[in-house]
Amino acid sequence: MKIRTLALIVIFISTLYAQEGQLNRNIKPDERYKADVLLVVAHPDDETAVGSYLAKLIFDEHRKVAVIYTNRGQGGGNSIGIEQSQAMGEIREIEARKALAKFGIENVWFLNGYDTPGQDVLHALKNLKHGAALESMVRFIRLTRPEVIFTWLPHFVAGENHGDHQASGVVATEAFDMAGDPTAFPDQVATPRERMDIGNFNEGLNPWQANKIYYFSDADEEVIAPGPKFDASEISPSRKLPYYEIASELNTPHLTQGDVSESGLKAQKTGDFTEFKNYHNRFHLIFGKSVVRCSPEGDVFEGVTSGAHPYVAPRGYEPRKPEGLGIQLGGPFSFYEDFWRAHNIENVGPLIKPEINVAYGSYLNIPVIIRNNTKDSVTVTLQAKLPEGFRLSSGEGRYFLAPGETYPIETFVFAPAEASRGPYEVIWNALSDGKQIGSLSIKTFLSEWTLPQ
Ligand SMILES: [Zn+2]
Repeated sequence: MKIRTLALIVIFISTLYAQEGQLNRNIKPDERYKADVLLVVAHPDDETAVGSYLAKLIFDEHRKVAVIYTNRGQGGGNSIGIEQSQAMGEIREIEARKALAKFGIENVWFLNGYDTPGQDVLHALKNLKHGAALESMVRFIRLTRPEVIFTWLPHFVAGENHGDHQASGVVATEAFDMAGDPTAFPDQVATPRERMDIGNFNEGLNPWQANKIYYFSDADEEVIAPGPKFDASEISPSRKLPYYEIASELNTPHLTQGDVSESGLKAQKTGDFTEFKNYHNRFHLIFGKSVVRCSPEGDVFEGVTSGAHPYVAPRGYEPRKPEGLGIQLGGPFSFYEDFWRAHNIENVGPLIKPEINVAYGSYLNIPVIIRNNTKDSVTVTLQAKLPEGFRLSSGEGRYFLAPGETYPIETFVFAPAEASRGPYEVIWNALSDGKQIGSLSIKTFLSEWTLPQ
């Protein structure tokens, strides 16, 4: 080849290169934060509830798990130090990180809720700063891109029934239904203007539709519900220990929560894991919903698709329009009736009939709503039918309702100072013109101590 021809070829190739330039490649989301399962709980130590299941997922199925806590557990007592409240919350954050590190979980975030010891989900949502928490939760789903979400059951139960637990389940469910919608918190999914420069207020995430959501409960009685089969006594092939025994490792760093850490430390010292065996054998995941075809009893990853799943809109709120005169439970009970339907998890509603746990001698607040969906004004009489030893405080009386009106009434009853656990049936009857128009009852369990209602 002549020198001149060669020179022409070189010029031709370099011109081509200059015209087309370097091939640009899309920048991918950060793989270090991709999770298979996102666990959403309320407090440091809540992760112990699902410890045996996490052991199986992590050690034997090699799944990546990320965890969100909605608060730092500032509301409890401190077993080893004087630090309380916010200061103790900072300690508990570290304890939770140490616990999860035992399972190799590093992607752990805390929302800025304030621990709210009580049974009312609405009160807990208020202290969680519901709107801000939802925005954060949607962000974490988009960041971690989980196929599956595990969280506390959004339901009122007789048991610990921690309002914060319920609230974490409520916000996780709402975020499950929002994270795939680019119009929800659009700044999160907008492209940053100058990725390598300062002041990029758009976050550069992608919408993300998780495949499935499963729940677990802190109810005293085992919640019998469809969910994946799991045996906590099964021996982990990799660790050669029963899953409940591996789960005990999560307990030990929670030193500010003496009962939690001591049970783990004692079991590991004595080799007696009976407490863990009993606890974790009662544990199971409750099927919430799935946007992919699967059986509620099937494996957690059955039918799961990798990569982004197209957005699936939830049903959304639809007003209930019962006809005529009647009564129904109000407050959190009424909220859940609407919430379950709006988020297509009405399957979890009937799992637990209305029930409550109250302390001996403590009050029992039952919110009642009287509705008048007739064309006439009416007077409704509310009467309590109480078990022996229970004492009425307030709520009985005559109530006037205009056509189309609903009347919320907070009723109060005192439980006996000493009694057996029950259950007892507390009943409210509503009458109009001498005829019964409705009745509702709450199965009431008594114990020495419960969270305040
Ligand atoms: Zn908790």
